[in-house]
Amino acid sequence: MKVGILALQGAFGLHEQVLNRLGVAAVQVRTPEELAEVDRLVIPGGESTAIAKLLDANRLADPLADRLADGLPVLGTCAGMILLASEVVDGYPGQRCFGAVDVAVRRNGYGRQSESFHAPIDVEGWESPFPGVFIRAPVAESAGAGVEVLAELDGVPVLCRQGSAVVSSFHPELADDDRIHRWFVEQE
Ligand code: GLN
Repeated sequence: MKVGILALQGAFGLHEQVLNRLGVAAVQVRTPEELAEVDRLVIPGGESTAIAKLLDANRLADPLADRLADGLPVLGTCAGMILLASEVVDGYPGQRCFGAVDVAVRRNGYGRQSESFHAPIDVEGWESPFPGVFIRAPVAESAGAGVEVLAELDGVPVLCRQGSAVVSSFHPELADDDRIHRWFVEQE
């Protein structure tokens, strides 16, 4: 199995390190050809506006939409969650999102960089909380009926799945805990 990490902007290097530690073959994806070769994809945190523009500039937006429509397993964290959402509030006008998970997200809904915080996240079925790191994170303002909410923080979904797409508003690659990556690469 080859796991791609969208490497246009943001925290792609840290995801790569976690996957390498798990012994998973991880490759950086910057071109349509590279995207075509991967079996799974991580879309990292960073700046969703910049990543959206770079997807267009690199002719990746339509191939990504096609692969997502075909059920490519994908993990989107923070900005990655914004890109995979079905609606973005406070994006740039016309900011593209790919609708892999039917959530409406508000960019920077948890506040500015200086309001970053850590919070233990109780994930359904897990024995201990996951250490959530929130940095200018999106707030999920609503989730459609098809969305499985795997964890909430103060009643707000922060880890969701729909089909083969998983999104977190926090940064699992910054936690000293590889359970989310492990689970993502192991899920059917
Ligand atoms: N606020 C950023 C955005 O809109 C996301 C922040 C992050 O990924 N840490 O893309």
